Parts: sequence; C-alpha cells; structure tokens
Amino acid sequence: MLYIAEIGVKCPNCGVKFSSRQLPVLFDTGYRNSELRQDFKGQIQQMEHYAVVTCPSCGRADWSSSFEPTAEQTVLTQPNMPSHLQFRAAAIAGERQGRDFYNVGLFYLHAAWCADDVHAEPQAREYRKFASDAFRKSLVDVSCPVARRPEIEYLIGELLRRAGEFESARTHFNEVLPRLSGRFAMMARKLIRLCESRTIEAIDFESIGG
Ligand SMILES: [Zn+2]
Repeated sequence: MLYIAEIGVKCPNCGVKFSSRQLPVLFDTGYRNSELRQDFKGQIQQMEHYAVVTCPSCGRADWSSSFEPTAEQTVLTQPNMPSHLQFRAAAIAGERQGRDFYNVGLFYLHAAWCADDVHAEPQAREYRKFASDAFRKSLVDVSCPVARRPEIEYLIGELLRRAGEFESARTHFNEVLPRLSGRFAMMARKLIRLCESRTIEAIDFESIGG
C-alpha cells in the first residue's frame, strides 16, 4: 500500500491555499518497461497519479513540486479529477505559455500512463502522439537536457509504436539508430521488429546482459 498524505500547498498562480494528496515517500525499484515507465506489476499502485496537482481556485495544473507546501490550515481541497486529465491540462497550459517542450512532453507522457491505468485507451493513444510531437520539438528548442537526448530520441519512436503509428515509429527508429548506443540501440532493434508485427504492448526494458 502506498502512504498518501494530505499536504497543504499554496498555488503559485493565484495564492490560494488548499490541501493536496501527495506521496511523501517515492520508491524506485530500478525496473523500467520499454517506455521507461517504472512498473510495479500491480504490486503497489503506480505513483504518477500523485505527481500532479490542480488548484481548486484558478485551475492551474502542474507538477506537485511546483506548489509550495504551507503549514497554514486549508479549507479547500484539490479537485477530484482523473490524473490523466490533470496532466493533459498541464500540457495544454505549458504549450500556451510557450513553456519548454521537454516539460510539455513529460506531461503528455504521464497523461498517457495515467490513462492506461484507468483503461482510457483512445486518450492514451492521443497523448502518446502529442508526447512524441512535443519531445521532437524539445530536441529543436534544446529544452531537452543534453544528457537525455539519446533517451528521448529512443522514446519518440516507442511512443509512436505504442500509439499504433507503426510506419512512423519504424522510420524514426531506423533514422536514430546510428546515434543510439548500448541498451537503447538494442531495445530499438527489438521495437522495430514489434512494429513489423504491429504490436503495441510495452515490453521489459532490458539492460545489457540482463
Ligand atoms: Zn490557483
């Protein structure tokens, strides 16, 4: 079971204080799937649902870390809204404010994962396309950290495959393969084969020799 805490926070946009539901302790098993998501295999609930917070007053949706904790008493609570819709709202706001596309991509990626968990398949497919598009732009506006570029180039292809865009995914993988190394190159080759068999499911992310 995850320990979920009620944490009082202050909205950085409108200043309203409210109570949010967050995870004070995060786990990392080191295990990832082919989309680089930490997967607890149903042992415990996925944590991403608590990484987004929405202000009940102005509607601002953002990473929970962008809302400063407050010790003051709060009467308002975070709206009870599916987390994938909160991440979607954060992504749309990010695009509108011209925020870096790397962040927009991460919001859509999290939206897709949260949509998967509630079996919102059409939305998940849509978010994956938006995420791959935003990540592509993040390589151009250089908001993608340099150290993350190989991972993001790999992920763009995997998002396209999981959105059912097999042709685009395969073309993308073939284009970036010469720039990938180690585990990412090995995984990309595997995923190209999955594009050919038109499979959209995630597989384990394997480490070399593992
Ligand atoms: Zn607000």
